[in-house]
Amino acid sequence: MAVERTFSMIKPDATARNLTGKITAKLEEAGLRVVASKRVWMSRKQAEGFYAVHKDRPFFGELCDTMTSGPTIVQVLEGENAIARNREVMGATDPAKAAAGTIRKEFAKNIGENSVHGSDATDTAAQEIAYWFSGTEIVG
Ligand code: ATP
Ligand code: MG
Repeated sequence: MAVERTFSMIKPDATARNLTGKITAKLEEAGLRVVASKRVWMSRKQAEGFYAVHKDRPFFGELCDTMTSGPTIVQVLEGENAIARNREVMGATDPAKAAAGTIRKEFAKNIGENSVHGSDATDTAAQEIAYWFSGTEIVG
């Protein structure tokens, strides 16, 4: 499996509880290298665009509320099979269903405030990295 890059976001519920370091440690322990990172407070428009795929779901308004409630840390992660590996270490969307040792099992508050986002496919990873890190030289 080739080395690839994925996009990660540490969500406002986690930055509010000073979990940036603990979550990043979990990512690194899973073999993912942080090759870009910055702190961003999403606008409503950015949150609505970022989660546009869910715009017709009943939780969309609440999701955009939580994503704009505080700053996030956006990151580019690099490693073997990084997209799948990141999804694995994140754990299931609902922390009640997440496997032991995963980020969401250990840190998420509930299905909405679930501490992390990770790209789900090669195309979304490329799009999300291009959007959040346009103009940044990423040194692998
Ligand atoms: P993410 O896209 O944030 O990495 P995911 O891919 O595991 O998470 P999605 O199904 O894409 O899950 O949902 C996007 C986000 O919407 C979830 O991470 C969560 O914050 C929120 N969400 C999903 N389902 C629900 C729900 N039933 N109730 C409230 N919020 C939800
Ligand atoms: Mg998703």
